[in-house]
Amino acid sequence: MFKISEISCINIGLPLIETIHMSNVTITKSNSIIIKIRNNYGQIGWGEAAASLSMTGESANSMIAAINYIKEKIIGKNIEDIKDIYRIISRSIYGNFAAKSAVEMALIDLLGINQKKPFSQLIGKKIRHELPIIWRISGSEKEIQNALKKRDEGFVAFKIKVGAKDLSYDLKRAENLRKILGDEIQLTADANGGYCPKDAINFSKRSQSVGLDYFEQPVNGADLYTMKQCNKIPNVLISADEGIHTIYDLHKHYKMKACEGGSLKLIKFGSINTLIQATKYMKEKKMHTNISGKAGDSSISAAAIGNISMVLPKLDWYSNVSIQYLGDDIIKIPHEITDGKLKVVEGPGLGLSVNEEKLEYYKI
Ligand SMILES: [Mg+2]
Repeated sequence: MFKISEISCINIGLPLIETIHMSNVTITKSNSIIIKIRNNYGQIGWGEAAASLSMTGESANSMIAAINYIKEKIIGKNIEDIKDIYRIISRSIYGNFAAKSAVEMALIDLLGINQKKPFSQLIGKKIRHELPIIWRISGSEKEIQNALKKRDEGFVAFKIKVGAKDLSYDLKRAENLRKILGDEIQLTADANGGYCPKDAINFSKRSQSVGLDYFEQPVNGADLYTMKQCNKIPNVLISADEGIHTIYDLHKHYKMKACEGGSLKLIKFGSINTLIQATKYMKEKKMHTNISGKAGDSSISAAAIGNISMVLPKLDWYSNVSIQYLGDDIIKIPHEITDGKLKVVEGPGLGLSVNEEKLEYYKI
């Protein structure tokens, strides 16, 4: 057992190798809140959540305010096991899922360090040993050459960010990428909710013929009617992302036949416990499953996604991490991606050694 002694949060921006062009946002620099929690033995746990107004409605400033509120409520609490962490975080504040997920991550890391156990062992049962990850194709000049290079390195899944330019341009990109990358890889497009209903339906109609395996979030997350229209088109699989923040959202999509699968993010669900329950629901309903971080996440978040991915009952649409697109990272030994697979460090906790000088350097 340990006592929570000190919680601090740091707002950071890391450089990206290339600008990311999505339908409704262009990202030139990451923005995350990093959480550092110290216990009564002086041990330290780390957590991270991206600030994403377009995904969770939480800005860096609003997350800091929420974390300060959570801090008041949980400093001095005793932690004996994972259930204590899930309970105190879920009761700490209404909403504010990204902020809560960062504090929870740091506490589980700290519990793992304290009990000398890997993060994955604390949150579930490890059922997979390899973690193929998705390569994101987001509108850079050399996107085709880069994708080809990544396929040759061993990547098996690719996601094209669409919607920043017109429909026919993006359909052509998809067609070219399928031709060049071959039939063996999983190729998808993600509109991040950026199309109007008419364009969403037109893109969906063409998605199979240009070689896409599925099409993610064609329209606004709240527009389940158009999602259903897109999903009804023969031979098209629609994925939901921005529309799914809770198990209830998943249930609504399933009942309306508005998607065949979805992308889950910790910053949307607010807790690893809820996210794991959601994947159990998806497995039961035969929905395809992906778990993602947010563009620009550091190795702290990547380590958490890696550990969570190891225990999920279903993950046929693979995992997304973002460290491969970063110009710099904040940990001493960055996580390795080899043959298109993330190497997950076996703890204790997340198995991280954070470079606090870099953390200071990238502070916003
Ligand atoms: Mg998405």
